[in-house]
Amino acid sequence: MDAVDVVVIGAGVVGLAVARALALAGREVWVLEAENAVGTGTSARNSEVIHAGIYYPAGSLKARLCVQGKFLLYAYCAERGVKHQRLGKLIVATQAEQVSALMGMVEKAQANGVHDLEMLNAAQARALEPALACEAALLSPSTGVIDSHGLMLALQGDMENAGGLLALVSPVRRIGLRQGTAQHPIHVCTADGTELACRALVNAAGLNAVSLAHAMHGLDTQLLPKAHYAKGNYFTLVGKAPFSRLIYPVPEAAGLGVHLTLDLGGQAKFGPDVQWVQDPSDLQVDPRRGDAFYAEIRRYWPGLPDGALQAGYAGIRPKISGPQSASADFLIQGPGDHGVPGLVNLLGIESPGLTSSLAIAQHVARLLSPNQP
Ligand SMILES: Cc1cc2nc3c(=O)[nH]c(=O)nc-3n(C[C@H](O)[C@H](O)[C@H](O)COP(=O)(O)OP(=O)(O)OC[C@H]3O[C@@H](n4cnc5c(N)ncnc54)[C@H](O)[C@@H]3O)c2cc1C
Repeated sequence: MDAVDVVVIGAGVVGLAVARALALAGREVWVLEAENAVGTGTSARNSEVIHAGIYYPAGSLKARLCVQGKFLLYAYCAERGVKHQRLGKLIVATQAEQVSALMGMVEKAQANGVHDLEMLNAAQARALEPALACEAALLSPSTGVIDSHGLMLALQGDMENAGGLLALVSPVRRIGLRQGTAQHPIHVCTADGTELACRALVNAAGLNAVSLAHAMHGLDTQLLPKAHYAKGNYFTLVGKAPFSRLIYPVPEAAGLGVHLTLDLGGQAKFGPDVQWVQDPSDLQVDPRRGDAFYAEIRRYWPGLPDGALQAGYAGIRPKISGPQSASADFLIQGPGDHGVPGLVNLLGIESPGLTSSLAIAQHVARLLSPNQP
């Protein structure tokens, strides 16, 4: 049986960022990825937005790691030449009753350390985006878009240059937390029967992270949440985008509302909506869901032509709160939470997980630092 210092399960943006941080800190890291390429999970099926950190409850991990992550990500993109654009975004109140919600967002954002928001009246918003209909809008200048695959390749490169190793087509099937050796107590077994012993294990398996944690021998499963899956469907705009910034409505309970984002080529897409599903591999987009998009989009863009939306792709939010509850925070359980030395479970890493990835990596590295009790 091979022995290694740290195993990271999952080569999405979070697993790669964690593996990079640990490798740069001098640790021996192996990343085990089930698929035959990096970043084929949720990290390939999102809005690719660098979020400012506006929406999340003050003091939550989402708030702290998003704001830190945003600064780290812009600096990293500049340093490593990862394509991105700081386009800015407008959050729009389309009814007079929603204007107070925008005010509330300014206060929430300030509590999170986001101090650059600007309240605009309808005329000021239309001066920036003439196609927009709204009562008022909030301008977030630090919101941007990023090439998430470029980011993951850069993270993988850094990790490998620092001595880390990536094993593709290596789905982890069994984990025994006290079944390894004295020096490397955690035992990991992959589908082809390969066995590894490690000192530390980071579960960054995205949509599978909760079920993998439940299957760990030696972990108190009472501490674990139930997994829920909320699919987000996207529809792309046929033709040229009428906006140069991202446009978001006032947010809904489980998502941020059907918003308009632009990719780095200027192509516009709308979504994601919220569709609770049982099966985390259910990625088909039902074109009929597009019907509801027209009405929602026309609240802020009345000029959307009939027939201009085309079914795009879908991503699934790895939720740990169900349809009737408020969105849960990221749940990052380290040795201080479950009492297993060397184990970190990353659960419910939904949006803003891409933005937060570098900050999550620093957080995990601290939890696994030898100086931690
Ligand atoms: C619709 C949608 C829109 C979003 N938009 C944004 C956004 O604009 N901005 C933002 O900041 N965040 C956004 N997010 C969130 C962001 O995409 C995720 O938080 C992030 O991609 C999670 O990365 P991850 O590495 O944890 O998971 P994943 O990318 O899912 O990676 C997990 C990896 O683990 C592998 N794996 C699973 N099981 C095993 C196993 N047993 N053994 C080995 N490997 C395994 C998988 O194959 C996969 O590659 C969005 C999410 C969704 C769903």
